[in-house]
Parts: sequence; C-alpha cells; structure tokens
Amino acid sequence: MSGRAQLMWDEAVTGYDFGPEHPMDPVRLALTRSLVGALGLDREVEVVAARPAGESTLRLVHREDYIDAVKAASADPGAADGSYGLGTVDDPAFAGMHEVSALIAGQSVGAAEAVWRGDALHAVNFAGGLHHAMPGAASGFCVYNDAALAIARLLELGAERVAYVDVDVHHGDGVQAAFWEDPRVLTVSLHEHPRTLFPQTGWPQETGADCAEGSAVNVALPAGTGDAGWLRAFHAVVPEVLAEFRPQVLVTQHGADTHFEDPLAHLAVSLDAQRAVQVACHAFAHEYAGGRWVALGGGGYAVVDVVPRSWSHLVGIAAGRPVEPETVIPQGWRQEVYARTRQLGPMRMTDGRWPVSWASWEAGYDPADRLDQAVRAARRAVFPLRGLLP
Ligand SMILES: [Zn+2]
Repeated sequence: MSGRAQLMWDEAVTGYDFGPEHPMDPVRLALTRSLVGALGLDREVEVVAARPAGESTLRLVHREDYIDAVKAASADPGAADGSYGLGTVDDPAFAGMHEVSALIAGQSVGAAEAVWRGDALHAVNFAGGLHHAMPGAASGFCVYNDAALAIARLLELGAERVAYVDVDVHHGDGVQAAFWEDPRVLTVSLHEHPRTLFPQTGWPQETGADCAEGSAVNVALPAGTGDAGWLRAFHAVVPEVLAEFRPQVLVTQHGADTHFEDPLAHLAVSLDAQRAVQVACHAFAHEYAGGRWVALGGGGYAVVDVVPRSWSHLVGIAAGRPVEPETVIPQGWRQEVYARTRQLGPMRMTDGRWPVSWASWEAGYDPADRLDQAVRAARRAVFPLRGLLP
C-alpha cells in the first residue's frame, strides 16, 4: 500500500463556470489549489490529473437521454430551455459544460480507483462533491454527480459495502437517490433542515427503499446550529452507523457551506469545526474502512474567506500533515487573492474557535432541546433498521 495521498487536480476544472452572476465562482477552486501550494501541501501528496469520465462511466448513474441533453446544451447553450434542469437559474448552460463536468467526475472516479486498487490510501478531489445532480437532471449547481459516480465505480470494481458521509449544509439528495434501492451503499447526510433550505429533502424518515431499508440516514439540523451542536450531532450518529456497516471504502463530501459566513444557508459552523469533522472522517476511514478514504469538496460560497482554507485543511489531513489552525497564511497567497478578487484574504487558518468542544450524546440528552430533537429523530428513524439502539 503506497502511503502518499493523491490530490486530484487538473487546472481545467476551473472551467466549471456558470457565469459572473452565479454564486459558484470557480475562483474558489483556483484559490484553494494555490493555497494548498502556498502551504507546501502539494509536496506531501501526489498531484494527479485523471481522465474525464467517459460515456460508459457516466451511464453508471446518469440516463443516456440526460447525457445527450447535457452534450446538446454544452454545444449550444442558447438552446437550453430548462428541460433536464439545464438552462435554469441554478444551472445555466455554458459552452463546454459537458466536457468540464465529465472532467470533474473523472477526478472523483480516478480517486475511487486509486483508493480501491491501493495506489493511494486517501485521495481528495475538492472540485467534486456535486451531490445534487440526479440520474436524469441537473440540479443545485450540479451537472454530473461525481460522488455517486465514484461510488458506482467502486461497486463495479467489486466493492460490496461503500459508506458515503455528506456534511454539506444541503442534503445529499442526488447520491441518496442514486443508491436508494441499493443496500451496498450507506448514505449519511447531515444538513440544515429541509423546512428552511434547498432541496427540501433529507427528512429523517427517508431511510431507503424497502429492499434497502436503513441504507439512508438523514440528520436534519435546525437553522442556526453552531459548532457544538453540529459536532454533537455528527458524533451522535456517524460513528455508530459506520461501525455497524463496516464499509470497505469511506467516501466523504465536505461542502464548506455550513460556515457562518456562507451567504446561501443558515448554519453557524466555523472553519475550526469543519476541520474537526475532517479529522474525524479521516479517523473513521482508518477505524472502519481499512483507511480507504475518498474525500470530496462540495458547496461553499464564501469563496475567498472560507472555501480555500477549509479544503486546504482537508488536503493536509489526507496528506498526513494537518495544518495547525494557528498557521499564518503566506502573504503571497493573500496578494493573489487581492489581485484576483479585490478582496482581502484571511490571515490565519483558523476562525479562532479552536479547539472546538461539544457534549457527547452518551452523556445524555435534553428532550426539550431542538438540536437533540433532531438527533433523536434521525436515530429513531434509522437505528432500529440497522439493529442499533435508538
Ligand atoms: Zn451545499
């Protein structure tokens, strides 16, 4: 087993660009890649550009008519009329959309292949995590579902149990939908409650089809949840289901839009708590999945202040060289931030909330507390289906 982690990166992923009015500004990927370099992390990993996902790979998850529609919209963006979710406000069509979406998907598929074959124990694709794309439609800024494709490829290679843990502020609906009827894939999503946020799914009662009962786990958190509540909920649900499921590979999605500065959602999580969850996911991979870990990006719309720092931490953790929260950010990177965005970049790799503490579930809960109610709802809905005590 090769020790070095892989960082999947092809400069061309920054072509995933819905235009200047769209919140998913690809500068977030470019700035993340350059912060990884400025912190010296790219010397600690093998930087690999995988091939774009081909037609047969895309079809592991996506319908052929949808792929054809993406290709058509990609070739003639003006003709996209909203069918298949293409040419909408969330997912405007743009020239080259098929190619760059397939490239991002290819990086996640390549990460999964590298981990499955043992070329690397951990692999990161922070350009991926496009978890809203459906088998037959674009949705929520996502065209091809690279997370679902990576998992589908693992199954194709012979994996019998793959766990997916999604901590993006939005429900991982596309991944859940792709494996709704497949007991080989456990999907766990921790997100802001569907009552207050897109995509309005991810209720605790969504637990998988009859033939895969208990294979979907949803923790729907109250708006306003902060570090202590977020970490409490994460630790009250995720390790127990992973210990029971015994995945061969752990795939995680690290959308940074849980952050208190994020403009599109309403949780109040700090960078330091995001880093704590990344550290925990790494530990879970070793504890429950033989170390095999594919880590993806996701949402995140505070593109200067949050995303590059959050995902640089993720790369450092996967590389076995975690970045200390107090680390001062190199001045050269802050100059690049200013040159590209006319904004002032952050000074340190922390929000000043480190170390983050939370109260463990085992010590008891408060039935009147909204966060605890959310955790109980998730555990009650799905734990008995997995033979666990709610
Ligand atoms: Zn999101």
